[in-house]
Amino acid sequence: MPHGKPAQVRCIQLDEGNLCRLFGDPRRPKVCESFAFDRELCGESRTQALQRIALLECGTTA
Ligand code: SF4
Repeated sequence: MPHGKPAQVRCIQLDEGNLCRLFGDPRRPKVCESFAFDRELCGESRTQALQRIALLECGTTA
């Protein structure tokens, strides 16, 4: 995604299993590489993480 990933748009690098196709690849964006698991953001499950991220995206889109 040469112009960045807009909020609420699925990254084109996610595969069918929701895994990053660029994991371990030097082309993986630095912002992704530097992200570390954060319990406050991610919660206890994928469902919780998606809900929290969706709320954040709603608060940051025009
Ligand atoms: S880690 Fe980054 S490049 Fe990989 S799928 Fe997620 S947003 Fe896309």
